[in-house]
Amino acid sequence: MRTFLTILSLFMYSYTNAQKTIIWCGNLIDGFSDKARTNQTIIVENNKITGIQNGFLNPGATDKLIDLKNQTVMPGWIDMHVHMEHETNPNRYLESFTLNPADYAFHSVRFAEITLMTGFTTVRDLGGSGVNIAMRNAINKEYIKGPRIFTAGKSIATTGGHADPTNGYRKDLMGDPGPAEGVVNGPDESRKAVRQRYKEGSDLIKITATGGVLSVAKSSSNPQFTEEEIKAIVETAHDYGFKVAVHAHGAEGMKRAIRAGVHSIEHGTLMDDETIALFKKHGTWYVPTLTAGQAVADSAKIPGYYHALVTPKALEIGPQIKNTLARAWKAGVKIAFGTDAGVYKHGRNWLEFIYMIEAGMPVMETIKSATIHAADLLGMKDQLGSIEVGKLADIIAVHGNPLEDSNAFEKVSFVMKNGTVYKNL
Ligand SMILES: [Zn+2]
Repeated sequence: MRTFLTILSLFMYSYTNAQKTIIWCGNLIDGFSDKARTNQTIIVENNKITGIQNGFLNPGATDKLIDLKNQTVMPGWIDMHVHMEHETNPNRYLESFTLNPADYAFHSVRFAEITLMTGFTTVRDLGGSGVNIAMRNAINKEYIKGPRIFTAGKSIATTGGHADPTNGYRKDLMGDPGPAEGVVNGPDESRKAVRQRYKEGSDLIKITATGGVLSVAKSSSNPQFTEEEIKAIVETAHDYGFKVAVHAHGAEGMKRAIRAGVHSIEHGTLMDDETIALFKKHGTWYVPTLTAGQAVADSAKIPGYYHALVTPKALEIGPQIKNTLARAWKAGVKIAFGTDAGVYKHGRNWLEFIYMIEAGMPVMETIKSATIHAADLLGMKDQLGSIEVGKLADIIAVHGNPLEDSNAFEKVSFVMKNGTVYKNL
């Protein structure tokens, strides 16, 4: 009995004296409030935020102190549209014939680390070969450094559509890909593709409802799914707890997708007033990806950078997205932050903040779009997206104050993900 009590008291002692991390915050943006607070202390235990107090709390003897008194502290940023397997380069098309999945895997290790170190503690991967699923698992096991990944695995397209992996190939290589490769025709194949993604371990579904810029195909914006096919995808996705993200530039494809009940529209370039009204009626999220629009338009000016079919689409579509965001924001469409990283060089995701501000969004709203609103669209609002007691300890800091100087978005000095410090400059 005595031994038991001794062990119990030892246990109680170590429990009540668990090491805490005490973070002094000179300026704190919590992710949901309209104003920053000064001189705050965040208390982290294990991987969770367990306290927030006014003033600078003195650490106990066993506590770890992180002094960010001269910095602005925020929830870790969330990018709702990345491609962690790839990075733009003039040989990108050729790479589909020369690189093996292992090459993509090793390359992506670098992309994942740079994304985390620039303040993005969570990303939504909207399509790759499936290496992105293995990468998510390796990051969760802490074998490699990277953001939390919610991945769509392989995007779903229709034959010849944006994300059909064999577009532009010669006939014997083109073959006839099906639902396993993410190519569907008709509601039955659409359902099968969703179930295939479930089997492979995807977290959500991505479809390409219209043409796109970087596919080797003529149209950037034509509708490529029937409404019936999208409905079959959304219904099946609900059975598996998946959200559905939709690539779309053209208005008709967007309208079909929104009416079918999808959760987010990506890019949204050519949305008209009728589409904006549908976004609002259905509560659909808009993920603008301004950084991609700017980057493809810039790269298209370099002779030979893209395939001849791609260049005119990049020059036409790219520059229009910022104006689209300006209209959508004014109209009250729900906006979540997303950049299409991989279409430009990884690690520059912060540029999206600058472009969103240029499009007329208040700075604090751009931060909310990358924190609480993104967490909401992920279905993770109870665990991510703000600095509140009970949430996971995904906390970053920047030198300077981004509310006064948007250059601060580039100056990420501190990164904590799930309670672990990855960067502290
Ligand atoms: Zn994309």
